[in-house]
Amino acid sequence: MCFKLKLVYLQKNMINKEKFTKLSAKEQIEFINELKAINKKKREKEKSRKIKPCPFCKSKNISLNGHDLSDLQRFKCKQCKKTFSHRTGTPLDGIKKEKKFKQYYKIIEAGEDTTLAKICEKLNISMSAAFQWRHKINNDLLKKAQKQKDNK
Ligand SMILES: [Zn+2]
Repeated sequence: MCFKLKLVYLQKNMINKEKFTKLSAKEQIEFINELKAINKKKREKEKSRKIKPCPFCKSKNISLNGHDLSDLQRFKCKQCKKTFSHRTGTPLDGIKKEKKFKQYYKIIEAGEDTTLAKICEKLNISMSAAFQWRHKINNDLLKKAQKQKDNK
């Protein structure tokens, strides 16, 4: 698809029917996929800006506190003065290779029989990362299981 056309689409984020029908089937699919990806990113960004209570003192007296290096929204609690993101207290806290971490999470969650060495090779991560991540993931799964029990 021509770059300019794409840009127009992306800026308006809506489909001009006439132009869209002129695209080949493959281009249409590509375009739709791109839109989906953009919308997903937008939703995630909006979600990350939603203010949640402070994970430390549960106060709702929170202010926005800029972004961290990976462009993640940070918040500051006006009560206890601590800063946090919506990841604080979740297994994703402090994880830079989010995609790989999620992959690993799924593997463990699915109960796939695997070793640390295999995981390192598969995800191309270091042994210490694999070890730490596994610990985080197992803890989170345990927490989830406990929650489910409590809800019953
Ligand atoms: Zn607080």
